[in-house]
Amino acid sequence: MSAPCTALPPLRGTIEHQGSLADFIWFRTGGPAEWLVRPDDVQSLAAFLAGLDPEVPVLPVGVGSNLIVRDGGVPGVVVRLPKAMAKVSIEPGNRVRAGGAAMGITVASAARDAGIAGLEFLRGIPGTVGGAVRMNAGAYGRDTSNILVEITLVTRNGTVETWPAARLGYTYRHSELPEGAVVVEALFEGTPGDKAEIGAEMDRIAAEREASQPLRSRTGGSTFKNPQGHSAWKLVDDAGCRGLRRGDAQVSEKHCNFLLNLGNASSVDIEALGEEVRAKVKAQSGIELEWEIQRIGVDK
Ligand SMILES: Cc1cc2nc3c(=O)[nH]c(=O)nc-3n(C[C@H](O)[C@H](O)[C@H](O)COP(=O)(O)OP(=O)(O)OC[C@H]3O[C@@H](n4cnc5c(N)ncnc54)[C@H](O)[C@@H]3O)c2cc1C
Repeated sequence: MSAPCTALPPLRGTIEHQGSLADFIWFRTGGPAEWLVRPDDVQSLAAFLAGLDPEVPVLPVGVGSNLIVRDGGVPGVVVRLPKAMAKVSIEPGNRVRAGGAAMGITVASAARDAGIAGLEFLRGIPGTVGGAVRMNAGAYGRDTSNILVEITLVTRNGTVETWPAARLGYTYRHSELPEGAVVVEALFEGTPGDKAEIGAEMDRIAAEREASQPLRSRTGGSTFKNPQGHSAWKLVDDAGCRGLRRGDAQVSEKHCNFLLNLGNASSVDIEALGEEVRAKVKAQSGIELEWEIQRIGVDK
């Protein structure tokens, strides 16, 4: 990738040219970000985006638990929020305010400690608040849209705005968050609950996940969305794809809506395996699976 012709604006934080994404995203594959940008705080991110050439694409990432980064890397700016933007605090009215970089488990645990029920499902989603807001992440019949009150975002042109959840146009695993906008904070609301009961539910979720998902593997979570009235894993299984391999990419034996990097897979192996699964499912059932995993960047 070549450097952009315009200089990047100054930033309080760090800017890394050809910054590795494979170092931290779950699959551990794929090329670098042309510019990996880590702002110190909201104001520095806003000033940076305001000064950035509008032609340069901007992509926020969390911890990459739902990403395939293609092997040629991601052109333009990739924004990763720092730990300083992972704070979680409790507010009146059974509310939890969380920075965009906070992990789901941290939010669920803070809610439990404050006796706030309804956020337990976040315990099982190994991503950030920003990723959950963007993906409408969910489990056990609940999703982010059920608990979200409002978000603070920095738009691609650098304005800081507060949006009510209704403005995000939520549907299953989908939001209408504008391209290039970075979620820097979210306000969630639950209901009064019993700490011990909330804790027990979180433990149950953790145990169920451990038993059914390849949690300790290099994976990207659920590969395909569940089509209306169907389970994606069942369609994949019925099409004979459980354990299917392409190089070091494999359909998980444990949960066949998960793809795995067994060690030396490249992103092209993983994506091609996913397309092979889609073709087999289409041939077997007539149903076209839709990718849930976000595929970003360019091929090598
Ligand atoms: C073992 C495992 C289990 C999983 N179980 C579930 C589950 O039960 N339910 C479920 O819904 N998902 C599940 N996932 C998928 C994943 O955890 C969720 O989609 C999660 O919300 C992604 O968060 P992230 O921070 O990793 O986002 P990333 O994977 O880094 O990014 C995902 C998308 O969010 C955008 N994004 C990330 N941060 C921001 C931000 N700050 N502002 C704006 N956009 C942003 C990215 O641009 C990208 O489009 C699972 C994944 C794994 C690996």
